Amino acid sequence: MPDDETGAESVTFPTARTTSDFASNLERVRARIDAALDRVGRPRGEVQLLPVSKTVPEDRLRHAVAAGCTVLGENKVQEAKRKWQELSDLDVSWSVIGHLQTNKAKDVAEFAAEFQGLDSVKAAEALDRRLQALGRSLDVYAQVNTSGEDSKYGLAPEDVIPFLRTLPDYGALRVRGLMTIALFSADVERVRPCFALLRGLRDEARDLDLVGDGGLSMGMSGDFETAIEEGATCVRVGQAIFGARATSDEQYWPSGGSASEKA
Ligand SMILES: *Cc1c(COP(=O)(O)O)cnc(C)c1O
Repeated sequence: MPDDETGAESVTFPTARTTSDFASNLERVRARIDAALDRVGRPRGEVQLLPVSKTVPEDRLRHAVAAGCTVLGENKVQEAKRKWQELSDLDVSWSVIGHLQTNKAKDVAEFAAEFQGLDSVKAAEALDRRLQALGRSLDVYAQVNTSGEDSKYGLAPEDVIPFLRTLPDYGALRVRGLMTIALFSADVERVRPCFALLRGLRDEARDLDLVGDGGLSMGMSGDFETAIEEGATCVRVGQAIFGARATSDEQYWPSGGSASEKA
């Protein structure tokens, strides 16, 4: 990975193991969220914090929930489903984030409360069919590729409005807004345009009444304050709450081959 792409990740995040570790990490992240809102004159409480618990084992998730996490984000369907089953005694709901392979739609329809990563009509169709069969519905965010990188999933910006126009056909999907993963860079001024682009698309879609609440899910551990300055209503934060991941992010946003699966 080129140097300038590792910067945002190079901050060390200590591993949270106890309920009080989680409580203090959550408190710290919430304080940073509030400070970012204050800086741009946005009301406090306008940003939902979605803790992202991928790779974190169940025993530690119990502490996270005890410390106040009520929703957990996961981007691997099998892992999320396993955790959903093993933690079924807890009062926590599950948000699946990132691109979905359509053969996993059945599982998502079964256990997820929210899906942030809708990026094709094929996935919308598959989810809707499974949800209808179960008599369930699902909150969804459409994922947009705002960085122009081939390795990132999501709709091309020019495809967003036409895509959103197809979604009323899928009655079990409740459209909540748009989601993006920005460029990985320690240089805030290269990251910010990704967030601004998503906000512009949201404004356009909202004028056409295509985007539900008009939510903006953007910002992660390395860039959530910038995202909030640009209008985020949901930030997806993993490492700043749970600790650094041992697994490289390459596993989560595969480069090269990934693009072929989009079509
Ligand atoms: C892992 C992940 C996050 C959180 O990233 P952190 O660096 O752990 O904050 C956010 N969004 C998506 C889609 C992810 O896969």
